[in-house]
Amino acid sequence: MTSNRRTFAIISHPDAGKTTLTEKLLLQGGAIHLAGEVKARGQARRARSDWMKIEQQRGISVTSSVMTFQKDGTVFNLLDTPGHEDFSEDTYRTLTAVDSAIMVIDAAKGIEPQTRKLFEVCRLRSVPIITFVNKVDREGRPLTEILDEVADALALDVSPQSAPLGMGGLFTGVLDFSNDTVAKPEGDSREYLGRREPLGELPDDLAEEIELVREGYPEFDLEAYRHGDLTPVFFGSALKNFGVEELIAALTRWAPPPRPQPAGERQIEPSFDEVTGFVFKVQANMDPQHRDRIAFMRMVSGTFKRGMKLTPSGLGKPIAVHSPILFFAQDREIADTAEAGDIIGIPNHGTLRVGDTLSERNDVRFTGLPNFAPEILRRVVLKDPTKTKQLRKALDDLSEEGVIQVFYPEIGGQWIVGVVGQLQLDVLVSRLEAEYKVEAALEMAPFATARWVKGSDAAMKTFADFNRANLAKDRDGDPVFMAKSPWDVNYQVEKNPDLAFSATKER
Ligand code: GDP
Repeated sequence: MTSNRRTFAIISHPDAGKTTLTEKLLLQGGAIHLAGEVKARGQARRARSDWMKIEQQRGISVTSSVMTFQKDGTVFNLLDTPGHEDFSEDTYRTLTAVDSAIMVIDAAKGIEPQTRKLFEVCRLRSVPIITFVNKVDREGRPLTEILDEVADALALDVSPQSAPLGMGGLFTGVLDFSNDTVAKPEGDSREYLGRREPLGELPDDLAEEIELVREGYPEFDLEAYRHGDLTPVFFGSALKNFGVEELIAALTRWAPPPRPQPAGERQIEPSFDEVTGFVFKVQANMDPQHRDRIAFMRMVSGTFKRGMKLTPSGLGKPIAVHSPILFFAQDREIADTAEAGDIIGIPNHGTLRVGDTLSERNDVRFTGLPNFAPEILRRVVLKDPTKTKQLRKALDDLSEEGVIQVFYPEIGGQWIVGVVGQLQLDVLVSRLEAEYKVEAALEMAPFATARWVKGSDAAMKTFADFNRANLAKDRDGDPVFMAKSPWDVNYQVEKNPDLAFSATKER
């Protein structure tokens, strides 16, 4: 039996129209009734937590959430990825939990830096991509120029499935190549409200352009798409509702159902007879009144039933999942059952960590969920020295959540945090204050980079004897070499051939 689940993300550069498209997809799916609700709900949620003020000030989305909607028997799980380039760790991890992606491009701007970065992450895992060229109701670049740019910049075959008839002031609808009908703008708002007409005569220059788009590119090829080598391209306008139906149809027909996931040497198929999944995100303190945490688990196999006992790989003993959460767009709903491809939120008190596998029999470990090498290291300085305990708790919590990585040096009491983007530091300081009542400053650390070290006990001991001042432990107590420079790392790597130094840590 093939699954009716489609678990996907939207990747885009800020302002390309991801939020608008999300609203329209949810509307189509009958999940919400008023456009604008996504943002309105988002704001209500933000108001609940102080640290999210940063998000408001900067007009960006730092948290990612899950939205589930249904259409004609297909269940779509849309994982929202924060779009800001500074806060990419979370985004990257979210992309490990999807089976496909929609790439939104602004018709006037083409491929922008963040689009490309996110695309590269998708390519690493061969995630298939459907392209949506947005804002054709405004002036945009010539169609072939946009298509060629996607093909060249991303080294990808493009297969146009539709084309706008004119753009900006000349826009008169979107032609669907599959059935030669034109979706027409209606009313004062010039929105698509469902009216389609057969394609009529076109002015010569437009007919020529359409012909080029239609004939000049490869035909759609399901296998090439599923391998991530070809992207079908839809033109449309999220704001005016053009192309949205087509995207849902394409997801239904072409996007892959839940894929098998690597677990060491094995591949766990969705049909595997045991409930398994992995945590790709932990969100804590969404409500400051309750110190709750929600671990987002992507189901890989089996049929989950409420109350089931699952064993987290990081814990070793089973937990009963009594009140799992499913994310229907209107509201959070308590999940009774969930299957491969679904995301469930598991409330917990810090037992679940990003990267954990959960399974019924505790016999599976998913691999490939990356931890990113910290590129910026800072020393945490307390303003009130009596708050050491609170700070330690906060740093442990936030590193579990994946907001920061924390390093406790063997010598001295200076705790170090590592991040991949500057914004994470702002989030850290602001959350320390809002949620833990700890005032702290961040100062330059005497280290430039960090490497996890592994080796035999004897080799580790020798290394430690010589490098005590550069050794730290991470949140899990694993040894980390803190280096003053990349040169330092190379020197130690050469000098210690029997130790393994790694920039990232896979749990
Ligand atoms: P995001 O940052 O990618 O989530 O982008 P938004 O969905 O917030 O859109 C950014 C801006 O572009 C907003 O002002 C939207 O109203 C506008 N926008 C989005 N889609 C369209 C479209 O199809 N046509 C036009 N003209 N504007 C759009």
